[in-house]
Amino acid sequence: MAARLTKNASEEGFKVNPKEPYAELWMGTHPTNPTSLRSSPDTLLSSHLTQHPELLGTSASKFRPPFDGAKGSGTEDQTTGHVPFLFKVLTCKQALPLQIHPNKDLAKKLHEEDPEKYPDVNHKPEIAVCLSGSFLGFASFRPYAQIVQFLTTIPEIKALSSSALQSSIETFISNPTGDTLRPVWEEFLKLSDNEDSVKAFTERVKKEREDAFEGLVGEGFSLKEKGNMVKAVVNSGHYYPGDGGLFSTLFFLNLVELKKGEGMYVGADGPHAWLDGEIVELMAISDNVLNVGFTPDSDKDDPSLVAKTVTCAPKTPSELILKSTEFSKSSTGKTTVYSTPFEEFSILRIEGDDSLKAFDGPGVAVITSGQWVISENDGEAKSVSASAEDTGSVWFIGAGTESKWERKSVEGEVWMAFYDADAKKDEVGKK
Ligand SMILES: [Zn+2]
Repeated sequence: MAARLTKNASEEGFKVNPKEPYAELWMGTHPTNPTSLRSSPDTLLSSHLTQHPELLGTSASKFRPPFDGAKGSGTEDQTTGHVPFLFKVLTCKQALPLQIHPNKDLAKKLHEEDPEKYPDVNHKPEIAVCLSGSFLGFASFRPYAQIVQFLTTIPEIKALSSSALQSSIETFISNPTGDTLRPVWEEFLKLSDNEDSVKAFTERVKKEREDAFEGLVGEGFSLKEKGNMVKAVVNSGHYYPGDGGLFSTLFFLNLVELKKGEGMYVGADGPHAWLDGEIVELMAISDNVLNVGFTPDSDKDDPSLVAKTVTCAPKTPSELILKSTEFSKSSTGKTTVYSTPFEEFSILRIEGDDSLKAFDGPGVAVITSGQWVISENDGEAKSVSASAEDTGSVWFIGAGTESKWERKSVEGEVWMAFYDADAKKDEVGKK
């Protein structure tokens, strides 16, 4: 889908090569891959917003990341004119690296040490909403009792030779807390991308399927959940045979399945790895990432650094799921808002004709299906512009602008990332 949308979202002349995989479509002002105006392809959105700061509203600039001296794909400085979020459409067939995004303190430290590798100092909490029939991903630590079950029943763990690993497991099992979990996970992160135990485990799961997990019982271990575990093992075994990332995800993190329209969040410092499916992903404006699994050893970040920073608080999948409700600024009820726990952004899903009251902040919308006519009314000048838009078009809605959405096809869907300083508290994060 990322490729299909990109065909329309990109500048003229961009051609999709059907033999190449395409993973991500970026929308927003991040200097790594900034959006430019369709009406004026040489002008970056950030330059336009620098010229017209009123389009960002009264307080979106308080999230302005200090991109001092940052240059984008052009040569323009991009220190101002930023929307507070980075919005992506992501297509994933092969597991993406196991990763965490550093918090603000660590991001600053890493940036000072290695500005090339860690381009910005912002934190990066994120949300993902499923666009395909289903989506599978690992996120946040499982309840400790479930981790203990893995560590005591999976025979291949006993075959791992590191004595530091085995003794940290014993300590955790006798007293499962965040503090005793951290060293265990760190030892698992140190496993290489070519482990015999991982290969043996993968072969056994391929043969025994759900029965390979018969020692696991209770919450988190239904037959369906075990079926997803088999899928995760087969997927990682195919793309990353022997990669220790399989153990440091499967035995420790929730394996969450989203159905179309369902969303989940990953807090700053939350571990996650996406396996399969299509999502819209929305995060604070940052490109900092620490990768520790499903990636060659030579590309891995320091496991000790990651283990030190990671949030070890356990969650259940239902705690990670985002609630969605009818949006309070919708006039027809055809738009739903996902309640995110972060202050920089939230996301809307528009499914039919609607008109949305103005925000005190910017919005970036992408048409993921159908044909739409979009018109705007910025109130003051009473100027209305209408435009027929096809799948993949990306639309910027400035602060103070009412937007009208008319669906011209039988089905259709639009996703909008936005920030609104005067949003209802349960619609955009903590205040
Ligand atoms: Zn991520």
